[in-house]
Amino acid sequence: MKRQVVVIGLGRFGVSLATTLYKMGHDVLAVDTNERIVQGISPEVTHAVQADATNESILRELGIANFDVGIVAIGTEIENSVLSTILLKRLGVPYVIAKAENNLHGIILEKIGADKVVHPEREAGTRVAHELPLVDVMDYISVSPRYGVAMLTALPYFVGKTISQLELGRGGRWGVAVLLIYRGKEVIVTPDRAETIKANDVVILSGDDENLERLLTAAKRGRPGE
Ligand code: ATP
Repeated sequence: MKRQVVVIGLGRFGVSLATTLYKMGHDVLAVDTNERIVQGISPEVTHAVQADATNESILRELGIANFDVGIVAIGTEIENSVLSTILLKRLGVPYVIAKAENNLHGIILEKIGADKVVHPEREAGTRVAHELPLVDVMDYISVSPRYGVAMLTALPYFVGKTISQLELGRGGRWGVAVLLIYRGKEVIVTPDRAETIKANDVVILSGDDENLERLLTAAKRGRPGE
C-alpha cells in the first residue's frame, strides 16, 4: 500500500530511508534545515523542503497531519529530534519512527510517544524502509531485500476458512505460504491445506513483500477477491 511518509533530517540514515521508500513507491516528503542537502535529494523523492521541523506552524503549513508515517532521522541534535517527535505526534501523525543516537536518547523517544525507535548502528535505513509497509504485523523478519516472514494474529477474514479456501500455500494465488500456526499451546508446522484458521490463531506467513502486503491489505478490507 502506498503511504505518505515524511522524513525529517537528511543525514546518511535519513537519505537512505527517504530514497528507498520513494523507490518502493511511497510518497516521500524530505525535510531538512540545510538547503544544499535538500537540493541534493530533491530528484530522488516526491518533494524536498528546507524547513525547521521544530517549528509547529511550519509543520502545519506542510500538512504534516495528513501523513501516515513520520520518520525523525535527526541524531546528534537530540533536542531537535525530541521536539520534532513530540510535534509529529501532537499534530496527529499515526506512526512515528525516531532515530536514537544512544540508549538514553532511545528511552526518551519512547517516553515521549515515538511508536518505534531505531538504532541505526544496529539497523540499516534500507531495512527500516523494507519493514514499513508491514507495520500491522506483530513481527517481521527480512529474509532478503524483497522477501520476508511475517507473524500476525489471524485477521477476521481468515477465521473459519481453510488455507485452501484462502488460496494460500503452494499454488495459491497469493504467493504466500503459511509456515506455522500457533493455537494456544499447540504449534502446527507447515499446516495442511485443509486446516481451518481459528480465532486467536497466530499465523506465520512467508512470501515476497508485495504479495504479503497485497494479501493483508485485501484481507483487512474483507474483500480478498479484488
Ligand atoms: P547520520 O548518522 O544518519 O548521517 P547524523 O546523526 O550524522 O546522521 P545529524 O547531525 O543527526 O546527522 O542530522 C541529520 C540531519 O538533520 C542534518 O542534515 C541536519 O541538518 C538535520 N536537522 C537537524 N535539526 C533539524 C531540524 N530542526 N529540522 C530539520 N532538519 C534538521
